[in-house]
Amino acid sequence: MPVFRPEEIEQLASQMESQTPQQIITWAVETFAPQIAVSSSFQTQSVPLLHMVSRIDPTILVFFLDTGLHFWETLMFRERLQREFGLHIQNLYVDKQWKNFLERFGRNLYDQDPDLCCYIRKVQPMQKAMKTIQAWISGIRRDQTENRKNAKILELERDGLLKINPLLNWTGQDVQHYVHEHSLPDHPLFEKGYRSIGCKPCTRAVLLGENERAGRWSGKGKTECGLHTEMFNQDGPGKSTLLNGFILNPNQDETP
Ligand code: SF4
Repeated sequence: MPVFRPEEIEQLASQMESQTPQQIITWAVETFAPQIAVSSSFQTQSVPLLHMVSRIDPTILVFFLDTGLHFWETLMFRERLQREFGLHIQNLYVDKQWKNFLERFGRNLYDQDPDLCCYIRKVQPMQKAMKTIQAWISGIRRDQTENRKNAKILELERDGLLKINPLLNWTGQDVQHYVHEHSLPDHPLFEKGYRSIGCKPCTRAVLLGENERAGRWSGKGKTECGLHTEMFNQDGPGKSTLLNGFILNPNQDETP
């Protein structure tokens, strides 16, 4: 399996700025398969990437964070895309070490401490899954958030993991164009005004003229779950009053 020096990654990333997503995905698959996976939240914005991957190599793993708090429409859409695209999906779950904590605080953790909630339900399960591969294809785009404007097409993450963002230069309009051009399905909530869809308690439809991600963590002063920020490279959730003094059970650290 190839190991790239940081300057090589920087050079490759810069060359890829003028390549199509399909060219970038093809390079990634040829370079890293089978040690590579795609992460997906199975919403309309996910469809082009999943469709491209399924055409380039349908055996590539697709990680889905099953937080237990998704809209049922998302779960149905995941089933539909799996069937129609022939995807190889692996669901990721919360570690059992959080069982007691979530029994006590999980009911409204997304309101009390959304960063901790995202760490437990998304970041840590993804960190654990990423230990099994060498390259991670993500569907983020620069036009989505301030944070993502500075992303690179290739990024070196913790433990030498290479993150590949083939759609970085696409816009929301490019996504729609691809979906229509290939007659692909929309997430069932898209027509109801949901433009970016995560867990049900933290997602609302957007209003006319709002940014597509305005409905994520609306009113909570949060724009990212942590998968695409520095949180992903941290070993713990950071400061949390709720977590202070709570003893986790280190012997229950396996996903079911
Ligand atoms: S999106 Fe909301 S419910 Fe889902 S993990 Fe993050 S804070 Fe929790």
